[in-house]
Amino acid sequence: MLNVTIPRDVKVKLENFMDHFKGFEKVSIVKEIFGDDAEKVLSELKVEFCHFRKGFMWICDDDGHLVVSVCYLKRGNERDIYLDVIHEFVHVRQFMDGKELYDDHIDYVKRPTEIEAYEFTVREARRIGMTDAEIFEYLKTDWITADEEKKLAKTLGVRISK
Ligand SMILES: [Zn+2]
Repeated sequence: MLNVTIPRDVKVKLENFMDHFKGFEKVSIVKEIFGDDAEKVLSELKVEFCHFRKGFMWICDDDGHLVVSVCYLKRGNERDIYLDVIHEFVHVRQFMDGKELYDDHIDYVKRPTEIEAYEFTVREARRIGMTDAEIFEYLKTDWITADEEKKLAKTLGVRISK
């Protein structure tokens, strides 16, 4: 027998997204993602700041809250963080629509939920003036290979840089 007590059902500390991230409800692509409900959805969105060293931000598929790495907020490039938030917003909407966000049976770069999220992100990246080379650079992540990145870029109509 172990003479210790381990809590098995702890609550994660969640905060209001809009207490920390300002102005997103006014961005036009956000209104496109959530429609007329944009402000309402964001006012109800919860965020969890976590200390994982790996990863950037993602949606918890239990209840649809946003999880953001504290390290990434500290060290990440502001434009990347901005685009990641837009990307995650698309997943928030997909979650609200009852879609399965992380279907491991489909490759990441072919998963319809990811393609849709990236389509919005790439459009927003172009709107804020990023070049295809910069967008291609943004698409690089730890969890996809160089070949997969090219595949994703092709799907999204982003010109591939070497
Ligand atoms: Zn995603």
